Amino acid sequence: MSKKAIIIGAGFGGMSTAIELAAAGYQVTVLEKNSWPGGRAQVYQEAGFTFDMGPSWYLLPDQFDRFFAKHNRKTADYYTSKKLSPSYKIFEDDGVSHEVPNNPIEVSEFFEKIETGAGKKFLKYLERAKEKYEFAMQDFVYRQYNSIFDLINWKIIKALPKLDLFFTLEQVIYRDFKHPLLRKILGYPAVFLGGFPDRIPAVYSLLNWVDFGLGAWYPQGGFSAIAKGFEKLAIEYGVEFIYNTEVSQIDAKEGIASGVQTIDGKYYAGDFIIANADYHWVDQHLLSPEYRQYTEKQWDKSDLAASTLNFYLGLDFEIKDMQPHTFFFDADWDTHGNGVYGSNGNLFFPSNKQIFWPEKPLFYAHVPSMSDTGVAPKGCTTLFILVPIAPGLEDTPEQREIYLNQTLDRMAGFLGQNIRAGIKVQKSYCIKDYQKDYHAYKGNAFGLGQTLFQTASFRPKNYSPKVKNLFYAGQFTIPGTGTSMAMISGQITAAKIIKQDK
Ligand SMILES: Cc1cc2nc3c(=O)[nH]c(=O)nc-3n(C[C@H](O)[C@H](O)[C@H](O)COP(=O)(O)OP(=O)(O)OC[C@H]3O[C@@H](n4cnc5c(N)ncnc54)[C@H](O)[C@@H]3O)c2cc1C
Repeated sequence: MSKKAIIIGAGFGGMSTAIELAAAGYQVTVLEKNSWPGGRAQVYQEAGFTFDMGPSWYLLPDQFDRFFAKHNRKTADYYTSKKLSPSYKIFEDDGVSHEVPNNPIEVSEFFEKIETGAGKKFLKYLERAKEKYEFAMQDFVYRQYNSIFDLINWKIIKALPKLDLFFTLEQVIYRDFKHPLLRKILGYPAVFLGGFPDRIPAVYSLLNWVDFGLGAWYPQGGFSAIAKGFEKLAIEYGVEFIYNTEVSQIDAKEGIASGVQTIDGKYYAGDFIIANADYHWVDQHLLSPEYRQYTEKQWDKSDLAASTLNFYLGLDFEIKDMQPHTFFFDADWDTHGNGVYGSNGNLFFPSNKQIFWPEKPLFYAHVPSMSDTGVAPKGCTTLFILVPIAPGLEDTPEQREIYLNQTLDRMAGFLGQNIRAGIKVQKSYCIKDYQKDYHAYKGNAFGLGQTLFQTASFRPKNYSPKVKNLFYAGQFTIPGTGTSMAMISGQITAAKIIKQDK
């Protein structure tokens, strides 16, 4: 008889764990509170418009390919994606806009136009970012981190000088580039890691390689196509998915996890329990006090990644002068960062919790209908606006309205199109919705920030030191946040279970 694994949550972390364990011969059941696979990659459909409500930027496509190849599959048999050109567009103050090309040579030419000498420096900077990326994917990311000693590894020690672990991303960018636009272009990916360039380690400049070396990709059909691809592969291996089923308790009698209780009164027994639901919720709500790893006070001190205020707008006209990915950087960069992460953060003390709603926020807009005719009625536009904000802020209808009006006015000013007049479908999503849908701690969107002391051995572990056979996968544990990291997390956790079981 094969052993049974129960997975709490069908996010990318949960599904990749399920696939790996099922491929290794385990019987796997995934219990998911909501009705869809993919967790935060939720989809909203209304009147012919389809919105990716969560992730929209397909990062690290090579690592998704690596995952499918590991299972003797081609990614393209599950979903397809295409490289965007240009990669994205940026609007700055005074109506100035820039299109960022999708290959390093053209990006270096673009940098040179903005700042004399920056083109060559960019290519050197990118070479270093590539080295970091390759090292990370080979020797750093796909690893177990059980204790600090796992960091004392010869390969890591040897690589330390080129990893820039003890500088901030801002420091290494500022060293080479003076122009504020170039600094923003190289610094914005920090948000994908749940941080700001002035307080996350410079090792994460590897994301600049992801940005310019790998390029920006769009999965055809949106992110739900990836989630469905994962669900399909899992089902091929015999994984059972049970949706609309919320786990209310982990059975950890005598310190051994042996099953879960659901809110509809059912009990699912398992030899291994893997929690993909938000770590804080599992720790504080699904386990009895003696089995919790942290206190609420400790959780309160953690450096959470950002939350977001999102607007999903179906427009009855085709939007002009945008790209599928467009940034609105026409606001003060540092004020926004301080609003989300607290002011005066640094590498060692990344946030001070004095958070606020920035008066004039930076924001990002995604227009999938420019890359995909299937997501909007003909001649219409699917528009997703995302404003990064601090988790834990007071989320009120009035505040949502203020930001909606402001972002639409600013866009209308740049594009010369009255967006408000064409709105056929409108929906907003913020802190309260994250809490309701995902039990997200303080309504976070991206989990736990990848600050220096929340990286590798310092991140919450992917196993419980207090409850045998209880494991974790997803954006709160190793290696980090984002769909690709959650997917890798599931692989690391499954490997740990399989090793322990042997
Ligand atoms: C607005 C937004 C934009 C983003 N943009 C990007 C992007 O462009 N690119 C990118 O790579 N990443 C992006 N991310 C981050 C990315 O979506 C997440 O890092 C990733 O999806 C997290 O996956 P996960 O498996 O850790 O968790 P989740 O996706 O949250 O999955 C956890 C699952 O557990 C379920 N669950 C919770 N409690 C229970 C319970 N008690 N019982 C049963 N099930 C339960 C939840 O319903 C959920 O389905 C974005 C996120 C958001 C919100």
